[in-house]
Amino acid sequence: CGIFGVVGTSEAANFVALGLHALQHRGQEAGGIVAYEPDLGFNSARRFGYVRDNFTSQKLMETLPGSLAIGHVRYSTAGSKGQTAIRDVQPFFGEFSMGGAAIAHNGNITNADALRRELIERGSIFQSSSDSECIIHLMARSMGRSIPDRMEEALRKVEGAFSVVAMTRTKLIGVRDPLGVRPLVLGKIGSGWALSSETCALDIIGAEFVREIEPGEMVVITPAGVESHFPFRPAKSRFCIFEHVYFSRPDSILGGRSVYETREAIGRELAKEAPVEADLVCPVPDSGTPAAIGYSLESGIPYAMGIIRNQYMGRTFIEPTEQIRNMGVRLKLNVNRALIKGKRVILVDDSVVRGTTSRKIKEMILDAGAAEVHFRIASPPTAWPCFYGVDTPQREKLLAATMSEDEMRDHLGVDSLRFISLDGLYRAVGEAHGRDSDSPQYCDACFSGEYPVAPSDQLEKGFAL
Ligand code: 5GP
Ligand code: SF4
Ligand code: MG
Repeated sequence: CGIFGVVGTSEAANFVALGLHALQHRGQEAGGIVAYEPDLGFNSARRFGYVRDNFTSQKLMETLPGSLAIGHVRYSTAGSKGQTAIRDVQPFFGEFSMGGAAIAHNGNITNADALRRELIERGSIFQSSSDSECIIHLMARSMGRSIPDRMEEALRKVEGAFSVVAMTRTKLIGVRDPLGVRPLVLGKIGSGWALSSETCALDIIGAEFVREIEPGEMVVITPAGVESHFPFRPAKSRFCIFEHVYFSRPDSILGGRSVYETREAIGRELAKEAPVEADLVCPVPDSGTPAAIGYSLESGIPYAMGIIRNQYMGRTFIEPTEQIRNMGVRLKLNVNRALIKGKRVILVDDSVVRGTTSRKIKEMILDAGAAEVHFRIASPPTAWPCFYGVDTPQREKLLAATMSEDEMRDHLGVDSLRFISLDGLYRAVGEAHGRDSDSPQYCDACFSGEYPVAPSDQLEKGFAL
């Protein structure tokens, strides 16, 4: 999901809409905005679909006045069952003795089932099926004397991954979980401030990137300034390495480095680890593009757009059902036949999850008369589900959970298939000595099976580590 908030600018909701539009790649199912204006109080709007189709209507935006607003773009993650209902669309709102508060959450709470059971037993009335709603109920039960105090107390009971953007009547609040699994950045806009999942959304509103919110940090912001707290027990940070590979936008800055640059480095690393003789390097667009450029630069094999993407389709994996996903590849990607015919082609993609995309693409490329097809993948085999906010299917559906690399190659029917090594990926994100196996610098659970936070709800349901 994507989260965004601003304080201290007029028409805050319009800025939030623009920010969410720049974060649309993080969630395309639905979006919501809450704004506060002293005379009119809190107002909210939640809609299915793209930001640009909803939050551009002047009529709607006029219902969201004020200089303080937050918003959320959603895609459903592990644990959520089936289609999103509008009541699951964030931000969530709660009214407390000291006033109202709204929160938007990116990540996934790994003990949400247990918390929900306990809260319901004690009288909480849940409105949604979202794990994020627990935070509001925990805040309601807290005896803290201010909303930030209550939030701190609530979040200390929550396990898993969370980046949160919240607001009261006067304050914008940002929090990252102690491991800092999901991103969150601070920006300055005129006399106000902004919080965003990624820097690309600061750019769109002309805000200046100030810094990342640190793992375990809570910032409480008014137009007058930013107050910083560290309410959690300190821990070694474990940022999601997959943000570098796929999730974040290539024009965002992560850990002081452009995501594009990192992805190009991944491609170079891949070319060193898994060279092959061929005529063309082609990306599976758009997610494989920077890595394909890196592979081409390192290997000297020409880069070409062998597959053309229809820009009007969304990301395939966000399509919720298997059937649509199967069709989705063809609706979205087409082979550039004239270029491919008779060529030995290296295809570079960011990841293989179920293998649906790779299989379809291989068929299309062979239909177009390619002489050979070699897959090069910019991440290690995805053998484990993510329980921290990225939507991966159950373990059984992950190709790499049940097959070796050679078996996957045969299953996909390609001439060769190679994945970047975990160490190679660490080198590409800037860790000169690779992965520290005693104390990994990132979360890489979907590749290694080493979960930095025990997925307790899942373990209770029988998930085996
Ligand atoms: P597959 O078709 O193998 O199930 O999914 C791989 C494709 O989905 C890749 O092209 C990749 O861009 C995209 N994808 C990337 N990350 C994820 C993810 O976390 N989950 C899913 N399901 N697909 C993803
Ligand atoms: Fe990121 Fe994978 Fe960890 Fe999920 S399991 S937070 S996708 S690295
Ligand atoms: Mg892709």
